[in-house]
Amino acid sequence: MTSIWSLALHGGAGAIAERVYKREEEHMAALLEQGATMLAQGTSALDVVTAMAEALEASGLHQAGKGAAPNANGVVELDASVMDGPTRAAGAVAALQGFLSPVRVARGVMEKTPHVLLAGEGAAQFAAMSGFARVEDPAGYYQTAASGLASVDAKMGTIGAVALDASGRLAAATSTGGLRGKMPGRVGDTPIIGAGCWADERAAVSCTGLGEYFMRVNAAADVSARIAYAGQSLDEAAFGVIEDVRRLGGSGGLIAVDAKGHIATPFISQGMKRGIASSSGLREVKTFR
Ligand code: ASP
Repeated sequence: MTSIWSLALHGGAGAIAERVYKREEEHMAALLEQGATMLAQGTSALDVVTAMAEALEASGLHQAGKGAAPNANGVVELDASVMDGPTRAAGAVAALQGFLSPVRVARGVMEKTPHVLLAGEGAAQFAAMSGFARVEDPAGYYQTAASGLASVDAKMGTIGAVALDASGRLAAATSTGGLRGKMPGRVGDTPIIGAGCWADERAAVSCTGLGEYFMRVNAAADVSARIAYAGQSLDEAAFGVIEDVRRLGGSGGLIAVDAKGHIATPFISQGMKRGIASSSGLREVKTFR
């Protein structure tokens, strides 16, 4: 163990300037402390990002899990993914209906199937067969959130976590309700390994924003590719990718950590709810610049 670790969380790029995000920021600060404790105790980056993403989903404070907004048919369809840097094992679900923690199901896909991505009915069948907790009363469960804070965000919203653990391992997790009012069956970047989520030996990345643009620049994996092929720093790579999103006309941001523990959180949306922590004592939670 090196005892060097880093952690970054996001609650999506849908934050709007007219709103105050005190509840979200307080929740994220508390969660960061939990994650920091886990990493300081030697918990794996994979377990930490999964736990952080699950807690962000369950908070109802962001457009993911409990806080997810419905599609154009009024149905909540969720996308999520997880990736382990050292093994490049990955799991994802797309357009999943009816389960409490899409990121836990994504982790299940990674660990219990030979596949990386399960979608729709098949994903739900797998989740049911594996015993993942269901949303018993979708109307009541998501409605509570819809009348709460997450619903008044912009159309976008997602949650994510990236970490470097004390054994030098990187991991990333991302989970979303997708874009509010999306077409039924629409799948964004979040469950697409390489687009909305990536982890390898160089970097762990979780994206948020207009997913179509992040898919078209293969955003998350490109952060690592820029480090590998262009010798860029994490900052240069992360900002460069977001600049590509901007050039295409997109919006959003990402969180990233590298193998040395550097953290980058570029965004071009009005705000991006985010928190960072590291073994050097860094703690910061912010929504705007
Ligand atoms: N990227 C997500 C999607 O397009 C939404 C978001 O991050 O706000 O589904």
